[in-house]
Amino acid sequence: MLLEVEGLTVSFPTPDGVVEAVRGIDFSVDRGRTLGIVGESGSGKSVATQTILGLTRGAQVAGTALFEGRDLLTMTTAELRAVRGAKIGTIFQDPLSSLHPYYRIGWQIAEAIRAHEKISRSDAHRRAVELLGLVGIPQPDKRVDDYPHQFSGGMRQRAMIAIALALHPALLIADEPTTALDVTVQAQIIELIKHLQGEFGTAVIMITHDLGVIADMAHDVMIMYAGKAMEQADRRSIYYQPHHPYTSGLLASLPQSGKEGQRLSPIAGQPPSLINPPGGCPFHPRCSFVMPKCRTEPPPFVRVGGTSVHRSACWLPSDLTGTSSEVDAKRHRASEAAGGSVAVGVPGTSDLGSGDVSSSSPSW
Ligand code: SF4
Repeated sequence: MLLEVEGLTVSFPTPDGVVEAVRGIDFSVDRGRTLGIVGESGSGKSVATQTILGLTRGAQVAGTALFEGRDLLTMTTAELRAVRGAKIGTIFQDPLSSLHPYYRIGWQIAEAIRAHEKISRSDAHRRAVELLGLVGIPQPDKRVDDYPHQFSGGMRQRAMIAIALALHPALLIADEPTTALDVTVQAQIIELIKHLQGEFGTAVIMITHDLGVIADMAHDVMIMYAGKAMEQADRRSIYYQPHHPYTSGLLASLPQSGKEGQRLSPIAGQPPSLINPPGGCPFHPRCSFVMPKCRTEPPPFVRVGGTSVHRSACWLPSDLTGTSSEVDAKRHRASEAAGGSVAVGVPGTSDLGSGDVSSSSPSW
């Protein structure tokens, strides 16, 4: 396994109390594979990956993050610098704030190369032109000397991808790389990452709040909420056999193709404060199927459904996976039998209908 994270816990002491941003998560990704980490803002998905890169200064961190057999969490700053950029590339959400406005695009790409390789300025500049061509920038030999403000949003994100992939890293972490882009450019960037992954065999961790973004890209998916993993499985199980009501809520909130004028079904309520997260299941204040023990006992993260890799942290019976109205009705019956009451909660999974769960025509 290329990256294996176990028991990762990250908290930040603040004047208001300790923010428990990540509360014991496990995940792994291998070469050539894509792991999608999905959750609302504040679920801890970005903090988790930034922590393994040593970018959460002041945080209290526990757990292990083995990358090529070495623990990233115990590396010195110098050791981490040698890994970041060269072995693990990163693309952040907003390319304009990731690129330095004062330096030309080509200079910034060349600098990333020169930080890790002994190479002349002219050779690094030549590599920068090649990389810009590789990520689809037209006339790369001319645009290499542009400043970031002379690039469109999509071109800036392509330039960031060029920097991230300049040294052929084994792992690429893409943290909401398409959120600031319009839908057409978003699809192009996803296609570009997939194409480059195919070319170089790079492992990818794609962080997003939108299950539609990774619908035809991720091999495995981890759903996060309130700093914890709620559900984890191969892509097909997550989209067609979800177990956790939060996953169902995320799926139901996606726009569906062929349903013009349809109202979206958001998950009612707000994510909890991570200074005082709710006891029991962290999703219970928003869950339609809440039972008395959900409020007091944290559900274990256990195997559900029919595959060995599918796990969920929910007290509902483990065989109640799927998106049909029958499964939904069984969930309600199970909840009522356990003394539960129908809460504000998530839309039922039957709201998903039988159509695509993504507007981008996934190909699984
Ligand atoms: Fe959490 Fe209970 Fe709802 Fe499952 S049924 S998501 S354990 S509140």
